[in-house]
Amino acid sequence: MILDNSQLEIFASKVDKRGHDECWEWLGSKYQTGYGKFSMGRRNSCEYVHRISWQLFNGPIPEGKMILHKCNNRGCVNPYHLYAGDGFDNARDMIRSGRGPNRCRLTRSDIDSIHKLIKLGEQQQRIAEKFQVSEATISKVKNNIDFPAKDEYHNNL
Ligand SMILES: [Zn+2]
Repeated sequence: MILDNSQLEIFASKVDKRGHDECWEWLGSKYQTGYGKFSMGRRNSCEYVHRISWQLFNGPIPEGKMILHKCNNRGCVNPYHLYAGDGFDNARDMIRSGRGPNRCRLTRSDIDSIHKLIKLGEQQQRIAEKFQVSEATISKVKNNIDFPAKDEYHNNL
């Protein structure tokens, strides 16, 4: 199980649980992108709530798959509205439809600039506003976590 009992209790208390064919809105905090987030209790350790919901319902996420919404409502955690799909198709569709993930908005030179600003002591929130991405994205840049630049990202599609 990915959540212990007390985490599960907290998680369940933040879900507006409804019928199978309705969206179950996440009532807790959300990323700027609209996806719900859940603190796993460790520092900097947050997980997407739709991914947690899918795993609680179905078990571990198959390798190479992303958890996607059938209902297009990013705040929804109804396991019946979620499916394990191909991240490659999803990323391509998102770019085509102009709703790319945050990280695709940054070019390699943006990322270099962000590194410089962080070194200069600029607040992450200010940097996030300047580049119009979420603070989580700035954190990822800061920590160099698996962060393809926009130009590289497009080349892979
Ligand atoms: Zn839904």
